[in-house]
Amino acid sequence: MDSPTSECTESTCRICYEPGGVENLCNCTGSMAYVHEKCLQRWIHVSGRTSCELCHVKFNTEQKKFNIEERVIYVIDCMHVSLCLAVLVFILVVLLLV
Ligand SMILES: [Zn+2]
Ligand SMILES: [Zn+2]
Repeated sequence: MDSPTSECTESTCRICYEPGGVENLCNCTGSMAYVHEKCLQRWIHVSGRTSCELCHVKFNTEQKKFNIEERVIYVIDCMHVSLCLAVLVFILVVLLLV
């Protein structure tokens, strides 16, 4: 009598095949349309692709904004801070020695 999947067959994640919280993040339709955003993020991370393999539309994920430019700025920022600290320590050491 019970058929647990009868209600959720239309909206299951195409990556993990679990229903619930699925979204259509590209132009695919039908059973391949829906995907958990987290599953998609992981898939993007693993595959290195940012567009759908089926419809070739760029995925609509908003969290995927950490691009190279931001990374470079972040690294430069870290380097800047550590450089300042190094200079500061150097000045302190020189002052203490003199
Ligand atoms: Zn999923
Ligand atoms: Zn698609």
